[in-house]
Amino acid sequence: MTTASPQCPNACPNCGHRLAAWDKFCAQCGQAAHLHQPSFWEFVHEFINHYVALEGKLWHSLRLLLLRPGQLTLDYLQGRRARHVMPLHLLLSFGLLCLVSIKLRPASPHVEPGSGWANLGILPYAVVLALPVLAGVMQRLYSRRSCRYGEHMVFVVHQQALVYLLVTLGIWIERAGLEWLEPVPLLMIALAPLLALQRVYGGRWWATLLRFLIYQASYLLIGFCFVLMPLAFLPR
Ligand SMILES: [Zn+2]
Repeated sequence: MTTASPQCPNACPNCGHRLAAWDKFCAQCGQAAHLHQPSFWEFVHEFINHYVALEGKLWHSLRLLLLRPGQLTLDYLQGRRARHVMPLHLLLSFGLLCLVSIKLRPASPHVEPGSGWANLGILPYAVVLALPVLAGVMQRLYSRRSCRYGEHMVFVVHQQALVYLLVTLGIWIERAGLEWLEPVPLLMIALAPLLALQRVYGGRWWATLLRFLIYQASYLLIGFCFVLMPLAFLPR
């Protein structure tokens, strides 16, 4: 293992692209030009860097998602991307966090498994299948704008990531016995899309309010369809 002076390969080990001595990354595939076998602690460090801290990106994205609805989507669409966690990565991370929180046995004896917030958790779990449909609804709602379908997809993915995050918060608030705090995530789930729509798409407030109501109704409708349809086919 040559950790002291990592050798400089002439070709990228990943794609074979020719590398100059001063290249830090391969120009073709983006892999680091200088590689060495990681030690155990470097491996742990890399894991923590990428999946827990993400070099501050995760906390930055999380703060924007919670405190400035829509800003993350706007940043992405306006090209400020490297500073944030990518939308799908965010969705999967918070989705996993939410799922794990639902599956964990409740710490409090007063909370039945599958009650309250944990029930609500089923809805966003199913809705993830329905996000492309929801993005289609968004395209109808903003049909006069020259937005691509993919841009609406970023919006709904960010909103769903926020729902996962808030449901997770709700679950842990319930388990901690802090019932008085429960309206906070509920209110945020209900109202965040309104603020996000206005921040991302602009326009008149009454028009945004109307679109917001259709968006939330579609979200619930699509969600219930995706929850109820599989149930109808399950053996009793
Ligand atoms: Zn390469």
